[in-house]
Amino acid sequence: MEIILANPQGFCRGVIQAIAIAKKTLADKSLPQPIYMLGSIVHNKYITQGLKDLGLITISEKDIPLLTKGTIIFSAHGVSPKVYNLVQEKGLNIVDATCPKVMEVHNLVNTKINEGYDVLFLGKENHEETIGVLGINDKIKLVPNNLKLNGISDKTILVSQTTLSHIETEAIYDLLKKSYPHLQISNQICNATYNRQKAAIKASVNVDLAIVVGDKSSNNCQTLAKTINDTCHVKTILIESIADLKDFDFTNISKIALTSGASTPRALINEVYDNLMDLKNCDFTSCISYSDCLNIKK
Ligand code: SF4
Repeated sequence: MEIILANPQGFCRGVIQAIAIAKKTLADKSLPQPIYMLGSIVHNKYITQGLKDLGLITISEKDIPLLTKGTIIFSAHGVSPKVYNLVQEKGLNIVDATCPKVMEVHNLVNTKINEGYDVLFLGKENHEETIGVLGINDKIKLVPNNLKLNGISDKTILVSQTTLSHIETEAIYDLLKKSYPHLQISNQICNATYNRQKAAIKASVNVDLAIVVGDKSSNNCQTLAKTINDTCHVKTILIESIADLKDFDFTNISKIALTSGASTPRALINEVYDNLMDLKNCDFTSCISYSDCLNIKK
């Protein structure tokens, strides 16, 4: 069995920064207590559980009016000015862990609104980043799934979410440019997302199986898996940890591409890699099934 590791993969700078900010905030006992996290710092349950163990309390937007004291950390996905102002009005301390790339998108959208543009946002409905951007101004509209942009003005710009599939969005841009030639497009997929997708495609050419390690709620992990599948037409699975491979049938699998999303901790990737190496090195003389090998390091 051959295992091909995509490079780059795993944590991006925005995620590293957000986790570092959360840890530093939790360690600083001079800050107003308790320490709250609005939503998930990043979309990975191992990270959120680790921070919970350190004392971080996760809340949602509806909880904010009920709070009387403490510090609120904003996640890497960013928040709308409405939420920011609400937290400020409540007199709560703010620690902002918004990824600089997401801030760039907010700034761009603000600039375009001030210049009199109508702004369309191409993003995943109900994702924190989408909610944060749409909350900047009522004039910003989400691009509908059917791509029908009724009554758009000649001064309209489309801005994309940072973690979309670059292949899927290019296809959408081509379709939209044909139907709406005046539409301006600002592709805001971040370099970390783009580079991980490119590397995953490169690693997945002619493999029997592609494995993406990452949280099933993470948009960048989902799109990574979809991008591999759509481009390389190879069986692709998104697993959260080695436990998800327990019952996987490796019969006829001789070449595997292994990658992970921007919010996946290195320890999870290493665990999957080590177990696959054990499977690779197994002579199958003492085990009953493939899952026996995969249980070795669990
Ligand atoms: S995936 Fe991109 S936008 Fe999201 S945290 Fe990482 S660098 Fe920032």
